[in-house]
Amino acid sequence: MARLVMKFGGTSVADIACIRNVARHVKREVDAGHEVAVVVSAMAGKTNELVGWCREAAALHDAREYDVVVASGEQVTSGLLAIVLEGMGINARSWQGWQLPILTSNAHGSARILEVNGAELVRRFKARGEVAVISGFQGTYKDSGRITTLGRGGSDTSAVAIAAAIQADRCDIYTDVDGVYTTDPRVVAKARRLVKVAFEEMLELASLGAKVLQVRSVELGMVHNVRVFVRSSFEPPQDIDPLSNHPPGTLICDEEEIVEQHVVTGIAFSKDEAQISVRHVPDKPGVAAAIFGPLADSNINVDMIVQNVSADGATTDLTFTVPAADYARARDTIASARSAIGYERLDGATDVAKVSVIGIGMRSHAGVAASAFKALAERNINIRAITTSEIKFSVLIDAAYTELAVRTLHSLYGLDKDQGA
Ligand code: ASP
Ligand code: MG
Repeated sequence: MARLVMKFGGTSVADIACIRNVARHVKREVDAGHEVAVVVSAMAGKTNELVGWCREAAALHDAREYDVVVASGEQVTSGLLAIVLEGMGINARSWQGWQLPILTSNAHGSARILEVNGAELVRRFKARGEVAVISGFQGTYKDSGRITTLGRGGSDTSAVAIAAAIQADRCDIYTDVDGVYTTDPRVVAKARRLVKVAFEEMLELASLGAKVLQVRSVELGMVHNVRVFVRSSFEPPQDIDPLSNHPPGTLICDEEEIVEQHVVTGIAFSKDEAQISVRHVPDKPGVAAAIFGPLADSNINVDMIVQNVSADGATTDLTFTVPAADYARARDTIASARSAIGYERLDGATDVAKVSVIGIGMRSHAGVAASAFKALAERNINIRAITTSEIKFSVLIDAAYTELAVRTLHSLYGLDKDQGA
């Protein structure tokens, strides 16, 4: 017997037929003798609709009321799934965030989970064999008792937090893809599903835009060592052996659990990047602060930063990237601070992309990035900027070469399907 959290995303609960399918997945695990807490998202498209209604009601609205509105999507699904489960003869009840409770910060619209009380769930597993159906995405702020939500995609985080609270053996994330891939399979046909990914690698992949999981859920999984298993909800429930150790999917786990280690695990890319170069800034203390302070104050997220050591000791160039959506605002922000910074010229480009290579094996292998630079050069792909960290390096290139670069690196590191394992 195991204790499981089963989380189902919006496309998995899109209508009543889908909810019945979910119930069959739940029944399979219950019949196998497992204790089950289910976490559900709102039906596909529901949250967008609710957000739209808030905007339509008033462009500027109270975030506390926004949370009341958008949290309702999950409430509907939890009730519906409990009804369907009961109809199948399974003991079940729904739980809203404020009922458990799931306590959060008061940052309405993007609250952080502070504490989850899972005691009553565990008591009911034991006393009544009851399945808990919990609304994802929502919690409550203790001091005010008001409903909060965790930011878009937040039901992944609810699921992992609940798994930690009830000490679940595994947190299964059922979604519309069957796992985490070495890169986006829509771009690289030879992309492979990963069997296991370390938390740290997944954190990079998720931060870089692999949309499978909310970044915060990976952080929580890492902190509490919750094994998170990403799998498809569209596999026929009856075809899955609940006692099998190898259902198709990707396990996100501690790196200790990963025996067969590759140097590179995955390649991520983003075309939503823009580059800004501040030319001939004085090479003296305080200049970086004069540039990045105002950007931070304007809430602009800076990603890559490259500064050269000046040749003449007088001036240097400083290049950084921002999300493409913030490009104009970032340029304006720098231009307004021109007298404080004292630069000569501002250059920029929006047709750039960032390609990142990720793998914990990089910690112990030299020359991983060097081989990428060579392979890109052979394809005539120019690198505008490079950044590295312990388990990742990223290159900024012209957006037109994104696919070519990703495919080239995917093959280079032996990630292609049918090429090693
Ligand atoms: N329903 C919420 C959203 O669409 C939360 C989630 O599905 O994870 O963002
Ligand atoms: Mg999601």
